[in-house]
Formats: sequence, structure tokens, C-alpha cells
Amino acid sequence: MRTGPGPGTMRALVGSDTLRTELCMTEPTSTGNAGPVSDRETGTHRQGPAGPGRKAVAEPEPHHPQGLAGRLNALWAGVLGANDGIVSTAGLVVGVAGATSSRGPVFTAGIAGLVAGAVSMALGEYVSVSSQRDVERTLLAIERTELQEFPEEEIAELAALYEAKGLQPATALQVAQELTANDAFAAHADAELGIDPQELTNPWHAAWASLIAFTLGSALPLLAVLLPPAGWRVPVTFAVVLVALALTGALSAQLGGSKKAPAVARLVIGGALAMAVTFGVGRLVGGSVGG
Ligand SMILES: [Zn+2]
Repeated sequence: MRTGPGPGTMRALVGSDTLRTELCMTEPTSTGNAGPVSDRETGTHRQGPAGPGRKAVAEPEPHHPQGLAGRLNALWAGVLGANDGIVSTAGLVVGVAGATSSRGPVFTAGIAGLVAGAVSMALGEYVSVSSQRDVERTLLAIERTELQEFPEEEIAELAALYEAKGLQPATALQVAQELTANDAFAAHADAELGIDPQELTNPWHAAWASLIAFTLGSALPLLAVLLPPAGWRVPVTFAVVLVALALTGALSAQLGGSKKAPAVARLVIGGALAMAVTFGVGRLVGGSVGG
């Protein structure tokens, strides 16, 4: 959900795909066969001879160390996942604590909320990252095929992309030729698709990260509501949760390079509202149902 490229990137991918299709469609093919579209559909030739620079991306999915940007992104996603755990579990336990003063139901509700939330976050992340990676792999496979079958058109396409970025036609052509000579596949993946083939997000990593982040976040309100004596449970939980949200808000603003005060205010106010509402609802329902 939060890791990897967002909708904007997806639009860019689709846009460049359209551009590429148009370019290929308008170029006459030297092989004189049915044309690029049917070629693309009939086979991807993934096992073709590995040219320079192709070996790395032909590997199924080795474990690549992420760059700094990737690590910051992962950390940021972790902070956001922890926030979800803090707020949802805090709302749950405060709501139940509003209905009953006995510890058992609060504990049961908190644990159930923690497990359900962590699993649902992990599942959502797994599905989202998997489908994103499927799209990226398909685009990369198409690109690889096109590079094998239409090398001339692909150089022209790369040159056109650099021309569109502001280079003179002659310069753009030279850049395209040099990049192609060095590592054609990496050059196209970057300029055309905005994908680093060696840093595709692993859905399992994303799923585990969400699960752990949510669990750690949930543990805070759970402990805060369970440890103090009955009369102190709700106030202590309020205080612990608001301090935790202020810290994660400041941290995520720091990681994202934005202002801290608004990020902290949004989280603290949102968290306080969530707990106030669920506490109120717990009071009402607990009173009317009769615990
Ligand atoms: Zn290309």
C-alpha cells in the first residue's frame, strides 16, 4: 500500500508504454513478419543469449540490498504501520474499557485486534506489492523482447525520450547510443519505465514489515491499558498513545522531509478523537447492553 511507486508512477508506466507501442507500430520491421504486437504476445525469449548487463536481471529474484532511499522508504512505511497499530488497538481497548472495568475482556479485545489488524495489514501489503511487481515484470519482459527484436527502433525510442527531456537531437542520439552500448536493458528500464530491475520490492518483505510494525504499534496501547489499576487504565492509555503518536509523527515528518508540527498535530488530534469516540461508544453500549 505504502511502499513502492504510487498511482503517479503507474500512470507514467502506462504513458511510456503507450509511447513505446506507438513508436514500434510506426517503425517498419526489418524482419518482415507480422509485426511487433504479435511478436510481443507470442514469446518473450527470456532465455535468449545473455548480453552484457543482462545477466543480473535474468536471475529470478535474488536478495538485493536496498539503497538508502529504499531503506528510508521502508522505515517510513514501518512508522506508518506502527501508527495504524497504535490508533486502532488504542481505540479498541479504550472502547472496551469504557464498557467494562474487568481486565479480561479488554485483554481479549486488544489481542484479537492486534492479530486481526496485523494479518490484514500484511495480507493487504502482500497483495498490493505482488500485483505491482507483476506489472513491473511484464513491462520489463516486453522491454527485453523489444530490445532483442527491434534494436534500431529502441535506440531511436531512447533518443526520443532524452530529446523530450531537453537534449538536442544529436546529443540525445549520442546518449542513447552510449547507454545502449553500456547496458541497453538497464537504460530502457530506467528512462522508459522508471524501474530499477534489481530493486523490485519483495512482497514477502513488505508483508512481514507491515505485520511487525503493526504489532509493535499495537503492543503500546495494549500494555498501557493492562498494566495500570482499573481507575487509571483509560487516562494512562490516552497519555501513552498521544505521546507515542507525537513521536511517530515527528519521526515520519523527519523521514519525509516535511514540517513536524502539522504532522504531530494531525496524528495527536486524530488519535485523541479516535479514543474519545470509541470510549464514548463503549460507555453507551456497555451501559445499555449491561455487562
Ligand atoms: Zn525501450
